[in-house]
Amino acid sequence: MSFSNLGLSDEIVRAVTARGYTDPTPIQIQAIPTILLGSDLLAGAQTGTGKTAGFTLPILQRLSAKRLEDLPSHPPIRSLILTPTRELAAQVEESVRDYGKHLNLTSMAIFGGVNINPQIRRLKSRVDILVATPGRLLDHVQQRTVDLSQVEILVLDEADRMLDMGFIRDIRRILTKLPKQRQNLLFSATFSDEIKALAQTILTRPVMIEV
Ligand code: AMP
Repeated sequence: MSFSNLGLSDEIVRAVTARGYTDPTPIQIQAIPTILLGSDLLAGAQTGTGKTAGFTLPILQRLSAKRLEDLPSHPPIRSLILTPTRELAAQVEESVRDYGKHLNLTSMAIFGGVNINPQIRRLKSRVDILVATPGRLLDHVQQRTVDLSQVEILVLDEADRMLDMGFIRDIRRILTKLPKQRQNLLFSATFSDEIKALAQTILTRPVMIEV
C-alpha cells in the first residue's frame, strides 16, 4: 500500500515523501480513504500511530479540491482541529503546513498562555485550517474575532484528554457556532461513557476504526 494508492494527490504525496515516509501506517490506511469519501469517523488511536497525518492529509486534499475561485474573497475557516494542549496544537499545525506546502491553503494555531492580540490580527487574514485549544478558541468566539460558521470539517484530536482536562463545556459551546452540515472526525485513545456520549452527539453514522 502506498500513499498514492490511498487516493492522495501528487502534491501531497511529494510532501509526505520529502518528510521521509515511505509507507502509510495502519491508521492512515484505514482513515485516509474514509475521510476522502466524506464520512464521519470515530477512531481509536494512541499517539505514535501516525494519526496526525491520518487526518491532516485527507483534510488538505478535500479542501484543495474546491477551486479557490469558487470561494468568497475572504474565505472563513474551513477546517477546525481541536486539541487538548498548546504543544499539540502547535505540532499539528506545523504538520498541516509541511504536508500542505505544495498547496494553496493557509493554517494557524491558536492557544492560551500567550497574548491574544497577534492572534486577532492574524485571524483578519485568510485562515483555511485552524488548530486550536478549546479555552482560547472560546475567548475568540466570545469576542467575535473568529468565524466558525463555514467549517466543513471538524476534528477532535485526543478527545479523551480534552475531557480529562475539563474542556467538555467549552467544546459544547464551540459546537453551537458550527454549521450543522459538516464532516466530523473524533480521535481518542480510550472510550469512556463520556466519550461515547460526546461521539453520539457529534458524529453522524461514523465509520469506526481501531488500531
Ligand atoms: P502521530 O501519531 O501523528 O503523533 O505520529 C507519530 C510520528 O510518526 C510522527 O513523528 C510522524 O512524523 C511519524 N509518522 C507519521 N506517519 C508516518 C509514516 N507513514 N511513516 C513514517 N513515519 C510516520
